[in-house]
Amino acid sequence: MARSSPVPAWVPADLPARPGVYQFEDALGTPIYVGKSVNLKRRVRGYFYGGGPADERMAMMVRLARGVTICRTGTDLEALLEEAERIERYRPAFNRALKNRSRGWYIEVDWGDPFPRLRIVQSRRKSRAQYLGPFRGRRIPSEAARLVEKVFRLRCCAGPIRPDATASPCLQYGIDLCTAPCVGLVGVDTYRKQVRAAIRVLADRGAAEDAILRCQARRDASLAAGSVLEATGWEQRLIWLYELEDYRTVLERPQVERSWLIALPGAEPGAGVLLPMARGRVLSRQRVEWDDGSWQECVERVCYEVRIEELRAESVFAPAELTPSLIVTAWLERRGPDEGHVFDLDRLDSTAIVDALRQAAPERKAEAA
Ligand code: SF4
Repeated sequence: MARSSPVPAWVPADLPARPGVYQFEDALGTPIYVGKSVNLKRRVRGYFYGGGPADERMAMMVRLARGVTICRTGTDLEALLEEAERIERYRPAFNRALKNRSRGWYIEVDWGDPFPRLRIVQSRRKSRAQYLGPFRGRRIPSEAARLVEKVFRLRCCAGPIRPDATASPCLQYGIDLCTAPCVGLVGVDTYRKQVRAAIRVLADRGAAEDAILRCQARRDASLAAGSVLEATGWEQRLIWLYELEDYRTVLERPQVERSWLIALPGAEPGAGVLLPMARGRVLSRQRVEWDDGSWQECVERVCYEVRIEELRAESVFAPAELTPSLIVTAWLERRGPDEGHVFDLDRLDSTAIVDALRQAAPERKAEAA
């Protein structure tokens, strides 16, 4: 006797073995989980084999699910964007991980505080604060902020500072890691200069290189003067500055500073997807057909929209804008040479892009075949 399949009847038998997004729904049709896969058939059916998911949360999701819908995409990048868009729209109960990931992290310097410190936060709430970011995770901005805090001897204590010359500074001052504004050993102006120098080094590779040269000169001068202890202090600062350079690509986020037009293969042969990105902000996802001429107008229109968006010069990302921007930025950093076409809109105009895409037509046809 043939063994019955563990896959419920409501899972379509003809799921494609192609990339895309799947969405489990409960008995009322409410999306309860959205995921993506490079092989929809294997992934969706895989939830029901081997006794179901080992993870208790996913096992419960599978017990509650009564329907699944899919959306095919041509690439993993489009699947990631579609998944993020649906999670933002539906907030499915079982998508805990991506819901949490949808916010970025910032290094905050609150200039409303006379003695600001570097804080790692998830929202840009303060009008007088300066923010670096957004960053995808918390770890790198935290470690980078701690390094410049030590190099520039900034305070790490929480709460407001009311300088009191009769009080005692904490150990940070004792080990030369803070200039002790708490006891008035440094005034507001000088302390704020320290903070500004730290921010410059965080945000700008050139400022970091200058800081390294200055530290080397101070170390050598201390050694020449026979002050080994002082030279050791400068040497330690140099080590922290070198460590900071390990995080430079994340801190600078070079792709986010630029505008791009990304052209990807679509889900069907002859179809494509255009992703215009203005200064890190993904503006839209435009589906095009390469076989009719309308894609050229679409390229011209989205390039124009990018220029208009650049004029906004708005550095604050709305929460819904942040996730797609982080996804595309990460993709730009790690993409392979064959994954679509990427055009730098700081160097190319729409006419040059249309020409390049026209020349790439045989290549696209070969891929589709
Ligand atoms: S020395 Fe004073 S200002 Fe510096 S970290 Fe300690 S308590 Fe804060």
